[in-house]
Amino acid sequence: MGTTKTVKVGVIGVGHLGQHHVKHFANLPNTKLMGVFDSNPQRNSEIANLYNTNSYNSIKEILDDCDALSIVTPTPEHAKVAELCINNGKHVFIEKPITKTVEEADHLLSLTKENGIVIQVGHIERLNPALLALKDYELKPKFIEIQRLAPYTVRGTEVPVVLDLMIHDIDIILSLVNSPVKNIRASGVSIMTNSVDIANARVRFENGTVANLTSSRIAQNKVRKLKFFQRDMYVTIDFLLGLTEVYRAMDSDTKVSNTMVTAPLENNGGHRSIVYEKPTIKKTDALRLELTNFIESVQGKAKPIVDGRAGRDALEVATNIHKMIIEDVH
Ligand code: NAD
Repeated sequence: MGTTKTVKVGVIGVGHLGQHHVKHFANLPNTKLMGVFDSNPQRNSEIANLYNTNSYNSIKEILDDCDALSIVTPTPEHAKVAELCINNGKHVFIEKPITKTVEEADHLLSLTKENGIVIQVGHIERLNPALLALKDYELKPKFIEIQRLAPYTVRGTEVPVVLDLMIHDIDIILSLVNSPVKNIRASGVSIMTNSVDIANARVRFENGTVANLTSSRIAQNKVRKLKFFQRDMYVTIDFLLGLTEVYRAMDSDTKVSNTMVTAPLENNGGHRSIVYEKPTIKKTDALRLELTNFIESVQGKAKPIVDGRAGRDALEVATNIHKMIIEDVH
């Protein structure tokens, strides 16, 4: 049974993304923002002052006052910060990727086994309204094409592009395809950093589905697009524009809502049509939705939409893709 007990929450790491966690926690229902801790003292007090909350001097001090913590430090720090929180009985929301290595993720999962501690992972695209708009469709993709490009910034380059950008799309495809990964082909190049900056991977699943993923952190403009094809259906999503479009081949007399245009198919005696639909997109803030889901999970009223296991599984596929790229290059 869930409880409406107020959850005392703190944010560890309040850089570019962490400050937005602070902003939302400051006014979520059933939530009390206790404060922040950032290892950069200047940033620590700047964000605490901005949101009129406490700045703590160490992780131990902040976690002693909280029931739950958001961990928004650079990825290489996630494992040790999360371990300290979990070992002190605290629930954790960990930004993506869950950790730098699968071994670290497995270790965190083993710490929470059977003690009711929530681990949630910040794969925010799962809460993108453009993806949520497909919830009433039966999705069984056979071929997926997914692209994520971003202009170069130093932030995020502490990990290869597969762990920074592609992992969002890996998590999406793992949530869409209900089948184990069969094999992976991948290649990539290093352009601006000593790590992989542009990557392409083809993931084949046991059920025959194929996903082709491209990620680059050296691009003129941001692109975040997903297309997929399944029997009698083609879907395109632009995550940045928040636009979802669906084309379906159907019997001409089938009634569907949201239909914009239909065009008769010439074969089959004209009894089939292509139906174009734009599912209604609810304007929501995905980060707020994600953090609300975390608070409700801590209260026992909900389950994390992306739990520690899902975060770990996305990391495992990302790591295998990255390893394959490195082997391909050398
Ligand atoms: P950032 O560098 O802007 O901020 C990180 C902050 O953590 C800095 O202020 C730094 O001083 C602080 N910090 C470093 N080590 C610390 C420690 N041990 N304890 C406390 N504070 C520490 O980075 P960012 O862009 O905000 O990214 C943070 C995390 O969020 C990364 O894991 C990144 O992958 C993830 N991220 C996720 C998304 C998303 O779409 N979900 C987007 C951006 C970043």
